[in-house]
Amino acid sequence: MPLEGLHHVTAICADAPRNVDFYARVLGLRLVKKTVNFDQPDVYHLYYGDEAGTPGSILTFFEFPGAAPGVAGAGMVHAIVWRTAGPEALAFWATRLADEGAPVTWVEGGVLRFTDPEGLVHELVASDAGDPPLTAVALDVPPEHRLLGFHGVRAYSAAPEHSAPVLRALGFTRRAEGGAWVAEGERRHGVIHYDRPPPARHGMAGAGTVHHVAWSAADDAELTALRGVVRDAGGHPTPIIDRQYFHSVYFREPSGVLFELATRDIGFAVDEDARELGRDLKLPPRYESRRAQLETLLTPLANPRY
Ligand code: ZN
Repeated sequence: MPLEGLHHVTAICADAPRNVDFYARVLGLRLVKKTVNFDQPDVYHLYYGDEAGTPGSILTFFEFPGAAPGVAGAGMVHAIVWRTAGPEALAFWATRLADEGAPVTWVEGGVLRFTDPEGLVHELVASDAGDPPLTAVALDVPPEHRLLGFHGVRAYSAAPEHSAPVLRALGFTRRAEGGAWVAEGERRHGVIHYDRPPPARHGMAGAGTVHHVAWSAADDAELTALRGVVRDAGGHPTPIIDRQYFHSVYFREPSGVLFELATRDIGFAVDEDARELGRDLKLPPRYESRRAQLETLLTPLANPRY
């Protein structure tokens, strides 16, 4: 059962209104779910993605209001890589992001790198994939230039060879150029690329850093099987956890990156109409009784779609 590439990437932000402005307005993603951190329900968990919040397009943020900026170091993802249609789309984004004041640089291989308002690094690449495009409708982003979903992530590792056995066991294959591993499913593929951490850089979780990266599994049966694979490869997976929109297993891979395996059989239409994703604050059943209290604690947040 190959993993179908990435499921979602979860990062930390300190300022939810600014986060929505950047990801929904500037990048043109759809805010598909406005909920709370299930482990700490007085803070937001925001999900962005394509129109339906399809696995492979989902970027999520835990908001910790006022959190200090973090820095990516060994064992952390340091860049999120998105696919675009090609050079014209990249040129469009270079202009649009610069106009918005986002720091933009071109790096080797025609890759456009930029940071969000809290310092989270993204890269845009010309897609080399036949994977179905995962786009969101954004009126001021021409359809041919819209983001197409994740290509992968880049992580820092001082000893990436230590990650090889568990990656291999999970069905990742190594790309010829060395540091990149690919999870290639029937329809989608996703890459994790290990880079040497900058010298004397100590990573610290905080605003603008990635918390974990989730890979796409079919359902509970596959999740159970994959959990066994991780354990047999020497990992320590959590039990299956109900995340309302998917079921998940977490473990830290040997380079230190927090991996999640998440199912794609539930989705965001489970608790609101697919046409109205992200409109209202959604709470898991166990927190519904605290809705009034939580709504006074959370910063009011408009979804620009509504
Ligand atoms: Zn997750």
